[in-house]
Amino acid sequence: MTEILTRRESGLDVGPLRNLLDGDVVAPGEVEWDDARLAWNLTVDQSPAAVVLPESTADVAATVAFAKAHGLRIAPQGTGHGAAAMSDMSDTILLKTERMRGVTIDPEQRIARAEAGTIWIEVVEAAAEHGLAALAGSSPDVGVVGYTLGGGLSWLARKHGIGANQVTAIEVVTASGDIVRTDWANEPDLFWALRGGGGAFGIVTAIEFNLFPISQVYAGILWFPVDRAAEVLKSWRAWTDDLPAEMTSVGRILQFPPIPEIPEPVRGQSFVVVETIWSGEPAEGALWIEPLRALGPVMDTVMTIPVEELSRLHMDPEGPAPGAGDGGMLDDVDGHLIDLFVEQVVGSPILSAELRHLGGAVARRDSRHGAIDAWEAPYAMYALGVAPTPEAHQAVDRAVARLRETLAPWEAEHTYLNFADSRRKPSSLFSSASYHRLRRIKAIIDPTDLIRSNHPVPPAS
Ligand SMILES: Cc1cc2nc3c(=O)[nH]c(=O)nc-3n(C[C@H](O)[C@H](O)[C@H](O)COP(=O)(O)OP(=O)(O)OC[C@H]3O[C@@H](n4cnc5c(N)ncnc54)[C@H](O)[C@@H]3O)c2cc1C
Repeated sequence: MTEILTRRESGLDVGPLRNLLDGDVVAPGEVEWDDARLAWNLTVDQSPAAVVLPESTADVAATVAFAKAHGLRIAPQGTGHGAAAMSDMSDTILLKTERMRGVTIDPEQRIARAEAGTIWIEVVEAAAEHGLAALAGSSPDVGVVGYTLGGGLSWLARKHGIGANQVTAIEVVTASGDIVRTDWANEPDLFWALRGGGGAFGIVTAIEFNLFPISQVYAGILWFPVDRAAEVLKSWRAWTDDLPAEMTSVGRILQFPPIPEIPEPVRGQSFVVVETIWSGEPAEGALWIEPLRALGPVMDTVMTIPVEELSRLHMDPEGPAPGAGDGGMLDDVDGHLIDLFVEQVVGSPILSAELRHLGGAVARRDSRHGAIDAWEAPYAMYALGVAPTPEAHQAVDRAVARLRETLAPWEAEHTYLNFADSRRKPSSLFSSASYHRLRRIKAIIDPTDLIRSNHPVPPAS
């Protein structure tokens, strides 16, 4: 019965592929279909030709062969945090790596190895057992691979750089079906492209990257009433001049909706907050944040914490959630921008609008780096809202789009792929030299554009 439905709904007979795999294949019309095609971002309605849930590298390679034989493309996906930027998938197999999980830590070499579907909290907790820290982002359940292929902006970035540039090896199934372990010595062009160029260059099955000997940080949040937003954000901005690289911080407006998922003390309330993360000696960190404390926060949670607690400092939602958002990079944050930022965000359907301080090691170039060598822009911006209904989705989209339009005069020429939830011109995601090199590599490694990323890089013609 399942097979009859499979053919009738999609015209594609997935039976032969199903017979080859340890994992599963789900086709349109099957009972598991709606669950199988879900992304972490529940507002994204993915309608691919089929969903494959591989359990091994061999499953991935078999899917590549099947897709090629049927004139289909493949979109690898870890969690679907970045799914909003994907376009129509009707000619595409959605390959979800969520069953390919596993983390190994080599404490001597200070290297972690994560399989394709691993999420950040799994690495963070495994590394912490050895007194080590990874360059993880703000969310515990973002995928390690998607985050790292797109760059990777962590709480330790100003000290230790862009996540992709700490990668030491990547295992990948290429569009030609080859299983390759790539590093600086083996297939160096592919290795370079994968480190920041996004998911268009191969299907990653495992990734290895450096860890750092950090077990504790001095970090937390200073909370202020939202009617002090402009004053606090301007003070935070002035404070970010000349900070040591050990200090990373975010200036942020939070407007919590009155819903049960939000904890009682903050439910339905709005704040301007400064999040500070200091990876040096706590006493020195306390001295550095003294000017922010002097502003008189209503709540101050900055203290020495185990490094793994950074995964929940930003209070990102865990598990699938309906959300809409977008972001970019800013050439500067000045007083005028802050006034407009506050005007656009306060009272809007935006739940969180943040300005992240960059600079330090993320702005440093190095010939060993990958496709994202450095970010020159000194600040990044990201705004999002909860979108449980189509009306709420539209309202959040409009508010975020208005905010981006308002900040357009400050927008940097090149933006950050992982903070772009809307489709962008591919050339706007990379420096001109990187973009042209990525297109040439794509033309060699995947000339028919079999492998689709949420932010595609077209092969050079
Ligand atoms: C709540 C939240 C918090 C975030 N915080 C941060 C942050 O602090 N810092 C930061 O830098 N970013 C952050 N991001 C952005 C995040 O890094 C991107 O959305 C990233 O793409 C998510 O990766 P994923 O694998 O979870 O998502 P997916 O949607 O599964 O993957 C995104 C893309 O990565 C590629 N990809 C995934 N797996 C593979 C694979 N096995 N092989 C080849 N390509 C693959 C594909 O092109 C895919 O379209 C955040 C996003 C959200 C929603």
